[in-house]
Amino acid sequence: MIAARRALLILACAGLLACASADSGQRAAERNTYLRYVTFEVPVNERVLLRWQTRQMPLRVHLPRPPAGMFEDDDAVWESVRDGVTDWTDVVGPGLPHFRFVDAPGDADIPVVWADEPDGDWYVAHCAYDINVMTRRFGVSRILVTARWQDGSLADVNDVYDVMLHEMGHALGLTGHSPHSEDVMFAGVQADREPGLSARDRATLRALYRRPIGSRVAGARSSR
Ligand SMILES: [Zn+2]
Repeated sequence: MIAARRALLILACAGLLACASADSGQRAAERNTYLRYVTFEVPVNERVLLRWQTRQMPLRVHLPRPPAGMFEDDDAVWESVRDGVTDWTDVVGPGLPHFRFVDAPGDADIPVVWADEPDGDWYVAHCAYDINVMTRRFGVSRILVTARWQDGSLADVNDVYDVMLHEMGHALGLTGHSPHSEDVMFAGVQADREPGLSARDRATLRALYRRPIGSRVAGARSSR
């Protein structure tokens, strides 16, 4: 999702979430990240990190071919979406994260769904979460892809790739946005940005997966 609302299925709860403070080594590793911008808000006035468990790897992704006639060059659009998924592979370390494409949407941790039109105020693609903060369960209900801008025009395949990379960052647990325009998790498409993940995008995902699920982050804030 770029600058749009996302469907957070969060159950109200007053349960306590683990509080793990970072040691000095962790703090050094987190210095050049935007970790404090990618926390989930939980009741009451708390922001915590949520993500997949490492034992859930490889994450199962369902990425069907676009419906016939949706795009002039189906293969190019499909490949740009696929690359947006797989280019996060091994960013944290060997096999983390890791993806396996499955044939049935019901078997997927991350179902990708082609849509003719957005179902909200987003464009190109959008990640919808399925989360339970009480149990700290992290999940993705789907990533919707239109590959089109708000005016209905087809996005360039490089932009589809970058937006899909951004949505996959959300799907891996980076719920907020980087304040730095060089990062793929910045809240808007930057025409002059180097394509792909920045060093800070990689460092932030590493920091997220090195912290326990449910960790609080010093200075955490919303970035929306
Ligand atoms: Zn976003």
